[in-house]
Amino acid sequence: MQNTDFIYELINYPLDRYQLNLNEVLFHNANGYIGIRYDFEEGYPAEYNFTPSQYINGFYDYAKQPQAERLYGLVDEKQTILNVANTQIIKISFDGEDFSMFSGTVLESRLSLDMKQGITVRNVKWRSPQGKQIHLKVIRMASFEQLSLFTIEYEVELLNFSGQVVIESVHNGSVLNYTNPTDPRIADECFQYLTPFSCEIKDGASYISSKTSKSGLMLCSCVKNELSNQHQQEFIVYNDASICRYDIKAKAGEKIRLIKYAVFCDSIRYDNCRLQAEKEITQALSTPLEELYKKQAAYLAAYWHKCMVEIEGDVQLNNAIRFNLYQLIQSVGKNKYSNIAPKGLSGDGYEGQYFWDSEMYIHPFFTITDSSISKTLIEYRYATLDMARENARIMGHKNGALYPWRTIMGCECSGFFPAGSAQYHINGDIAYSIIAYYLATKDIDFIQVIGAEIIFETARLWLDVGHFHKGQFHINGVTGPDEYTCIVNNNYYTNVLTQYHLNWAVKFYYLLKNTNRLSTLEDKIQLELHEIEEFERAARNMYLPYDENLKINPQDDSFLHKKIWDIDKIPEDKYPLLLHYHPLHIYRHQICKQADTVMAHFILEDAQSAETILNSFEYYQKITTHDSSLSTCIYSIMAARLGLLDLALDYFNITARLDLDNMHKNTQDGIHAANMGGSYMVIVYGFGGFRLKEDGIHFAPAIPKTWTAYSFKICFEGSWIIVQVKENECSFTLEYGKEKKIFVYGKEYLLSDRLTISR
Ligand code: BGC
Repeated sequence: MQNTDFIYELINYPLDRYQLNLNEVLFHNANGYIGIRYDFEEGYPAEYNFTPSQYINGFYDYAKQPQAERLYGLVDEKQTILNVANTQIIKISFDGEDFSMFSGTVLESRLSLDMKQGITVRNVKWRSPQGKQIHLKVIRMASFEQLSLFTIEYEVELLNFSGQVVIESVHNGSVLNYTNPTDPRIADECFQYLTPFSCEIKDGASYISSKTSKSGLMLCSCVKNELSNQHQQEFIVYNDASICRYDIKAKAGEKIRLIKYAVFCDSIRYDNCRLQAEKEITQALSTPLEELYKKQAAYLAAYWHKCMVEIEGDVQLNNAIRFNLYQLIQSVGKNKYSNIAPKGLSGDGYEGQYFWDSEMYIHPFFTITDSSISKTLIEYRYATLDMARENARIMGHKNGALYPWRTIMGCECSGFFPAGSAQYHINGDIAYSIIAYYLATKDIDFIQVIGAEIIFETARLWLDVGHFHKGQFHINGVTGPDEYTCIVNNNYYTNVLTQYHLNWAVKFYYLLKNTNRLSTLEDKIQLELHEIEEFERAARNMYLPYDENLKINPQDDSFLHKKIWDIDKIPEDKYPLLLHYHPLHIYRHQICKQADTVMAHFILEDAQSAETILNSFEYYQKITTHDSSLSTCIYSIMAARLGLLDLALDYFNITARLDLDNMHKNTQDGIHAANMGGSYMVIVYGFGGFRLKEDGIHFAPAIPKTWTAYSFKICFEGSWIIVQVKENECSFTLEYGKEKKIFVYGKEYLLSDRLTISR
């Protein structure tokens, strides 16, 4: 394997199922709207049983989710992301011999992901069973400039023969979702969600229109092939697919070059997706491919400029972080119709639904590198606020809004409510991301028009779900982030986050009121002063569990009463526990799937003393399995915060390379996007000690022994600041924008140009 800066490359990689499944994910092409898994254009032997897949962010159908007992309010229908028309297929033969990586001899092969150019490149030298040699080069791109567009540039050179070449470029609307009945994290039912209803050829392009079985959505995909060599062309058209077939008489040494343009348009974004597809394909064809490549590179140059991160002294980690950040820009939704799914657009694990992963793991990256993306992600939540209100009613709350734990279009999709709908902290998570956006940008206009309504409506919910008991505000019957401990009273994470949320609801109220920005919203949601006073009272009296003996925050009221499960005695093959033990068995123990209280100490460090934070870290570390990929990054951040740098680095090594090294053994189902955001957080929020607070931005840089230096860049209130950390010093450079007050190791400085501080 070659792995250089901005290029991730495999040379002469094995052609077994394991590797090829991984490659589908690691080399997928996406742009936040479309995502195409990396499949060989010519296909695989039948026994490989592959499901080449491509998705549109937020494009879904409803699927049954039968509940064994039809109790009130349980979710019996979910939304699932769909595998859409396959435009990847290109078959080629030479005098009747089909090209396949699985016949003849692969003399050389190389697969690369170029993260500066935004393309994947496959190079293959191949000898047919009868001795014909070719060189194939395939470049694939999901355009960041034109989000509907996916291109394949397919070039074949005949090395030692002349002959008849036949190419069949296929556009297939008949697709099924991938299923796996043995894994609860993947859909288990095989069903045709998307049915093509028209397949037509117009101006040499094929258009396939399909509709979903239940959600009433439509999709039109269009494919246009362009071949530069002399050829004969014919279309073979079926009801649900079309084949564009070329016959070429080619000479030895000749290069055959086909460009396949595909666009996807859906009825969520467009009133008439068939017409839109026509517009989109015309737009794509009006620009030479070379120009499209240049635009792609320019988009990424701007991206890398904004989110610069560099680790010196550990090439593996540096390359991994690059890879992870590339996946984030590939995955994140770029309009209010979508968000970012746990697998991005690289697989249908978790069925393309959105979770808190977005707010707590991915926002923290975009908020300080490109806040316009965070803003769009919040707009998505705003667009589904009415459904969150409805969800609150279903859950029995008279007031406010409760966001669903997992969703695509806004309705709850949790099948298993103890580890799903019960995670009310999603409300606090969304509020936290809006507050962070405000702290980083001071964009009060956005708060006035969008942010505040979400903040108030979700804050109202807390007053309805919680109650005062002996003068303190309690929140009972919820699940915190740790999915191995369900339906508890007073989960520390939930309570402390609610306190923060309510305090900010009060702050925003007065901020908007005092600047005459509140009247429209006050009328709209009938917000009254007595509610604000209740927010303040609940926040002030929030009950936060604390254990005097251990001097830690217990995860919830009963957590410490449970039996401890000795992690060292759990056999390796029993992980993740959720696939091997009954949930009740797990719930009866002190065992954590992921950071919970430790996460709360990261996001709200000022709520507890340093001693409580350290004791809690040590306590929970011993009982956390990290079965969720959202965990090690938080442990790494907190270890760094506590000065345990070797430990922080150990956790970071697992975090940063989780997908590249398939550490959770399920990367084939898709990347772990939250963990990727988490790996960024480890550098900036962990080692860099960065915090966004009401009084400004804070840094407390530390550096692991094995690194010579590291640097990163953040944007705060429109000013760009570069941070460089070395063993004995750290420096802050104002790259662009107005001077800023910054705190370094707790001391205040004014950054107007460059500041160097000894460590
Ligand atoms: C984790 C959740 C997470 C979900 C999607 C689960 O395994 O426990 O915290 O939101 O995966 O990534």
